[in-house]
Amino acid sequence: MNDERIGVIADDVTGACDVAAELREIGLTVDVLLGVPAQEDLPDDGGAVVIGLRTRTAPRAVAVDDSLAAAEWLRRRGITRWYQKYCSTFDSTPEGMIGPVAEALMAAGGFAASVGTPCTPHADRTVYRGHLFVGDRLVSESSLAHHPLTPMTDPDLVRVLGRQTTLPVGLVRHRDVRAGPPALAAAIRTASAPHLLVDALDERDLDSIAIAVEALDPCLVGGGAGLITALARRAGPGGRTSDPVEAHQGGRRLILVGSASERTRAQVARGGPVTATVDAVAAAADGGDEVARALALLEDFWMRHPDRPAVVSASHDLEALRLAQQALGVERAGAAVEDALAAIALGSVKRLGARHLLIAGGETSGAVTRALGIERLRLTRRVDAGVAWGIGAAGAVAGGPRLHVLLKSGNFGGEDLFVRAWEAAAT
Ligand code: ADP
Repeated sequence: MNDERIGVIADDVTGACDVAAELREIGLTVDVLLGVPAQEDLPDDGGAVVIGLRTRTAPRAVAVDDSLAAAEWLRRRGITRWYQKYCSTFDSTPEGMIGPVAEALMAAGGFAASVGTPCTPHADRTVYRGHLFVGDRLVSESSLAHHPLTPMTDPDLVRVLGRQTTLPVGLVRHRDVRAGPPALAAAIRTASAPHLLVDALDERDLDSIAIAVEALDPCLVGGGAGLITALARRAGPGGRTSDPVEAHQGGRRLILVGSASERTRAQVARGGPVTATVDAVAAAADGGDEVARALALLEDFWMRHPDRPAVVSASHDLEALRLAQQALGVERAGAAVEDALAAIALGSVKRLGARHLLIAGGETSGAVTRALGIERLRLTRRVDAGVAWGIGAAGAVAGGPRLHVLLKSGNFGGEDLFVRAWEAAAT
């Protein structure tokens, strides 16, 4: 058991929310800080702190600087146990930030080793012999191979991380994990590489890794939401809460979809119809026009259905996505859509009374929360594995209205999430 408070440094905001949802589920008070925190102080309730950065697709130097700034913020508040949260599908650009950030945090914290696994059983991500599976398939055979920004075409994580680091990368095999925590700790201690990826298939494996890690000299621990939850399960009673949460009341409900993932597309199909779509080429040509058109459609929709959630989605036609990326380049196409969705969110909150926002997509969530000036979300209720509502103030809007916000990674949540999220909010 370890009573030291853990600070999580996540490479995107939905990854932060994934961790936060699971920590909330095991009874912790959880705050998600969006972006490198300003001077703001840490709530003094012993709860978990999860910092959601936007470093997954950032240039390497920015990813490193922001991660170090987040670590320094934690260190100044007495938190020296850091968890490097990356995607459970190891999403990263070819130049990669998982390796460089790990090395920077190791140097800053004085850690000789990094140990981690993206295994996240609640999302059906497992690692065996260093290969990452999404359900029954290798990640490279899953829809993640076609991600618009971070296509994962190599399932061998030792190789992927090896390309991103200057230090050797080693693997701790599943048989060592299954040998139990003492043997596992010994295997980690005697491994020759400073970066170690660990096989894991289920919660039992993650619990063994959590126990083994506590027996080691302090090291940088990293991975998906799975391992941090296993570590938190072992923590003492500090930071627990049984406070009741309020039901969502008043205000318009808005679903914003920037993710093009298979799961999100299925959620839109179940939770639609779509009120307005955003086209990348049109948004790049005249963003203001695209935003004004969407806001007009929203106003009309909410006049007719004030209590129904409206859906604004990036075009989900995969051929259109491909053509937009070809015409504009992947980055510009993505940014045009993100900027338009962010401006639509801001306009909806400022002028149309939107107070409940469900946002699908990691990059999209980062762009939208930044435009709204939301710096912190206190988690309220978990809706699905890795998916939870939180409350935060929109600092970019006069009066800083309180918003209920749910940020979810593209592939997260059941197919009926866009329906159930509102049912959960009403209780
Ligand atoms: P996920 O969580 O599924 O990875 P993200 O929001 O992180 O979702 O990433 C999806 C990216 O794809 C965003 O940058 C978004 O703007 C971009 N995108 C989505 N649909 C389109 C489209 N039709 N044309 C161009 N870019 C798109």
